[in-house]
Amino acid sequence: MVRFDYHTHSNYSDGGFLFGMIEAAERAGLEGVGIADHCHISDDERLRANRDSLGFSLDLTYERRRRGIEQIAAGRDIRVFDAVEMDYLPAAEDQQAAFLDDANFDYAVGSVHQVNGRNVQRDAAFRDDSEREREAVVDDYYDTLVQLVDSGLFDIAAHVDLVERTPSLRGFSTQAHYDRLAAALAESDTVPEINAGRALGDYGEFHPAPDLLTTLRDHGVEFVVGSDAHSPEELGRRVDALESHLDDLGVEPTTLDI
Ligand SMILES: [Zn+2]
Ligand SMILES: [Zn+2]
Repeated sequence: MVRFDYHTHSNYSDGGFLFGMIEAAERAGLEGVGIADHCHISDDERLRANRDSLGFSLDLTYERRRRGIEQIAAGRDIRVFDAVEMDYLPAAEDQQAAFLDDANFDYAVGSVHQVNGRNVQRDAAFRDDSEREREAVVDDYYDTLVQLVDSGLFDIAAHVDLVERTPSLRGFSTQAHYDRLAAALAESDTVPEINAGRALGDYGEFHPAPDLLTTLRDHGVEFVVGSDAHSPEELGRRVDALESHLDDLGVEPTTLDI
């Protein structure tokens, strides 16, 4: 049963208007929805340029968004959480910790989108890489993800096998990667999500994919739910898809203590 969707985006990053996302969540019958807009905190030139070109400015606008959330949530039959999806970067860990501490979100979602400055969702970026190079990218991806978990900065680890959605990186994840990630998660307070980001798209799988999901369950790891919706229409469709996926798996998602 999906009661809480902890991972959606609004127009404070790359999603639909805040009011539309919250209305869609209410229509979907959720008890709570988390607005987890993208946020980049780093001194790295390339990443700053990337942030600036995408217009991700939650580091500057979260207080405004907080007031917006309060206004829109008032009088509605749904809880709305003031959250963040932060691009975790090991080199910026201290800065990220200080920002999260300062901003005091309801919770933080941590993501690894970049490996060595390359976005692992950009298939074209890896098409010319050799098999060995792709293996190295996927290795680095899981290394960074384990660091994210070990950092203790995040309540939720987002789309933990993100590399699998990218055709040129698909199939390089190994059981050894899964075992390492599962061991790290089992020992930490960070919870992975069942993420519907590409489940209804070309990839057609939820994150985590079946083998990783089994490994995580074998380690006693629990899951929260994240639609990763960027529009009101997506939110409704994905919550329905998550509902039947969880039913098929017999997984009861956990909830954050907020
Ligand atoms: Zn993400
Ligand atoms: Zn997201």
